[in-house]
Amino acid sequence: MPTRRTKRGAERTPLSGDYDVLICGASFAGLTVARELAGSGARVMVVDRYEVGERQTSACAAPTEWLENMGLEGSMRQTFEELVIHTPFATSRYRLPWTFSTFDYRTLCELLDEQNEAEFETAKVNGRTGNVVHTDRGDLSAPLVVDALGWRRVLGSGYQPPDAPLSRGLEVHPGGSSDDLEIWIDRRYVPAGYGWSFPARDEVRVGVGSFDPRFHVKDTTVLLAQDLQRDAVRYQGNWIPHKLREATEDGIFFVGDSAGHCLPLTAEGIRTAFYFGLALGRELRAVVDGRSTRAHAMAQYHAFSAAHERKFRWMLRTQKAVPRVPPRLLAPAIRAMGTRRFVDWSFNHYLAIAPPSFVTARPARGPLGERAPARAAA
Ligand SMILES: Cc1cc2nc3c(=O)[nH]c(=O)nc-3n(C[C@H](O)[C@H](O)[C@H](O)COP(=O)(O)OP(=O)(O)OC[C@H]3O[C@@H](n4cnc5c(N)ncnc54)[C@H](O)[C@@H]3O)c2cc1C
Repeated sequence: MPTRRTKRGAERTPLSGDYDVLICGASFAGLTVARELAGSGARVMVVDRYEVGERQTSACAAPTEWLENMGLEGSMRQTFEELVIHTPFATSRYRLPWTFSTFDYRTLCELLDEQNEAEFETAKVNGRTGNVVHTDRGDLSAPLVVDALGWRRVLGSGYQPPDAPLSRGLEVHPGGSSDDLEIWIDRRYVPAGYGWSFPARDEVRVGVGSFDPRFHVKDTTVLLAQDLQRDAVRYQGNWIPHKLREATEDGIFFVGDSAGHCLPLTAEGIRTAFYFGLALGRELRAVVDGRSTRAHAMAQYHAFSAAHERKFRWMLRTQKAVPRVPPRLLAPAIRAMGTRRFVDWSFNHYLAIAPPSFVTARPARGPLGERAPARAAA
């Protein structure tokens, strides 16, 4: 078993090495890819600029079944059977056909990290030349390199706000409790986007996300926190991709936010990081096991990701349409969509974009399991 070490300050000694697989980024996507390589005997290196679980990257809410199937239920803090949606003129309460849970980021990352056998080093990735990755501690190389570094897509052609297709999100984490998972679609907080309050047992994650990267969400995040009589403390924010990107580029595999795998409209990117991370991990596993080649894995994974383009595009269209609905029409529209049948139908379709059953899906005709590209496209 390789020794795990994270280094700080003067301990950040020069780093170099050639591996079978190099995974850059140790959050939802990167750790999921590493998990799928456990037991393969491959030399896998994971690097991140922070220690595993050190910097929370989201409000940390995901479908409960995904967390359970991934063996991460130990990180769960609170489970919700209902979603409360506020508009300026009304509040609707939806009973969901499946539940969402909030979780503790550090615990989840640690549990996920326990599922791999990779080496881990803290290093900042600065770029690459071919398959040699340059970090602030030295160069690392591998025939299979994964960029799971988030929205910046450091190892690819890069994405810069405000011109790139990015949303922005900011939240505060005051102490406190609540029973409700709440969303606000209200121009008082954001012209295009939504506000949220996600309780997690003894803290509440209150934030605002804007689909328009030019709209600054700090003031209205504070406003929403004030309206809820919560303290605006412990900020956490980031850019959020809202358009699917190429999943492979110039010999590099991209997964999670770096591949634009976060869903438009809802900005849900954790389960999709798991989902595409599993798909990529299975392809890489086939290569290191000798059942596939690097070129084949590139083609397969690229096709698998691209097969979801229609669904992502449809969600992006809805993301653009919702802010155009006049506020007075929003409340009756949301109420009308609150019938049991419609909620079940729409939420089940939404979950099916990246279904929790994918965790346990056994390969049928190849490393991608039952959802081979052609079927996913269908
Ligand atoms: C405020 C906010 C709230 C959100 N809430 C939710 C939510 O409740 N549910 C949900 O499903 N989604 C949510 N999202 C979206 C979700 O956070 C992302 O889609 C998800 O984190 C993507 O996972 P990832 O592993 O691809 O990237 P990330 O989680 O962003 O991880 C990237 C990793 O790469 C590391 N890294 C980055 N650059 C470098 C570098 N140069 N060198 C070395 N390491 C580097 C980072 O330290 C990090 O560990 C939210 C986003 C925001 C901004």
